[in-house]
Amino acid sequence: MLDLNRRHCFEILNIPAEKIFHLKHVKVEIPSYSRILASHICTGCGEKVMETKAVKRGEVYYCLNCSESSYGQLDWAGIYWLEKS
Ligand SMILES: [Zn+2]
Repeated sequence: MLDLNRRHCFEILNIPAEKIFHLKHVKVEIPSYSRILASHICTGCGEKVMETKAVKRGEVYYCLNCSESSYGQLDWAGIYWLEKS
């Protein structure tokens, strides 16, 4: 299966771009900068974690990994749910 997928990917690379994409000039509205939010130090690992990604327990903060909470993880294959027990 991996070999089949590899061959298929290389076949696609040999197709002229004009046959795969519709090329045209477009006007793009550039989004504004991201908001800069406060960071907290994770009580579990000591790493800095952005406020929106931190889990607050009482007066302390944890990163998602140390919080033992389930969360969505994005990687090359998409978003998947990490279950923590
Ligand atoms: Zn942590």
